[in-house]
Amino acid sequence: MGSFKDEPSVPLRAVIVDIDDTIVDTKGAFAGALSEVARTYLPDLAEARHGEVVALWRRDPNGFYRAFTRGEMGFREQRLARAEQLQSQFGGAGIGTDGFDAWNEVFEAAFQANWRPFADAAPFFAAIAGAGLKLGAVSNADTAYQEKKLEVVGLGGHIQTLVGVDVLGYGKPSPRVFEIACDRLVVAAAETLYVGDELDIDARGARAAGLRGIWLDRPGARRGGPFDEDREAALADGIAVVESLDELAAELSLVPQVRDESTAS
Ligand SMILES: [Mg+2]
Repeated sequence: MGSFKDEPSVPLRAVIVDIDDTIVDTKGAFAGALSEVARTYLPDLAEARHGEVVALWRRDPNGFYRAFTRGEMGFREQRLARAEQLQSQFGGAGIGTDGFDAWNEVFEAAFQANWRPFADAAPFFAAIAGAGLKLGAVSNADTAYQEKKLEVVGLGGHIQTLVGVDVLGYGKPSPRVFEIACDRLVVAAAETLYVGDELDIDARGARAAGLRGIWLDRPGARRGGPFDEDREAALADGIAVVESLDELAAELSLVPQVRDESTAS
C-alpha cells in the first residue's frame, strides 16, 4: 500500500503482532458484548441504537483505557468508568462499585462468546512460520487473558512469546515492551517487524523502539476517537500501511522456504 520500498533492507528475522483488532476481531466481540449489556442495563434504549453504544465504548473519549495502559488507573476502575459513561450517555441508572461485578459478568460472558479470529490471521501465521521467521505478540491487555483469547479463537500455539500490559504494569507505546518482546525472541529490534491496528501506540511506538512499524488500517475499523490519524500522516512519516494481513504477507513476499532440489549436489 505504501512506503515498503523505503523500508530498510535489514533481513527480517521476526514478526511481532498486536492481538485486539489485529488478529482477533475485537470490534465484533465488543458489539456482541455491548448489545447484551444494553439489553440488561439500558432496557429503554432501542436495539437500533446499540451501535452507538459500541461506538462510544470503542471511542473511549476520556481515554480511560489509555490511562490504564500507562499505569494511571486500575483495570476495574477504568472499566467501571466506561460503564458509567454508557449509562449516563444513554439514559440508564448508575452501576456503582457494588454493581460492577454483575455488570462485568454480563459483559464478559457475551464478549468471550463473540471472540473470533480474523480470517487472514492463521494464513499470516503460516506464512511467517513457512518463511522461517519467529513470531511474538505485544498487547495492552493482560497476558493470561490474551493467551486464553488466542486459545479460544484457535490461534494458540503459534506465538512464541506474548508480552501483556501486566509484565511491566504499563504498555505500548513504551519502547520497553517492544524491547522485552525482542529480547525474548532473541532478535534485534532492527530485524523485527511489528504490525498493529492503532497507528500511534502500535506502528509509531514500534518504530520509536527501533522496529519496523506497520499500521494495519482495516477498512471500517477506525475508532473515530482522539487518537485517530489519517493515512497521509502515516505515509508522510514513512510508516507503511496495509489493509489486511494478506496484503502484508504479499508486500513482504512471505513465501515458504522450499529447498530447490534441482540444484542440490
Ligand atoms: Mg489493537
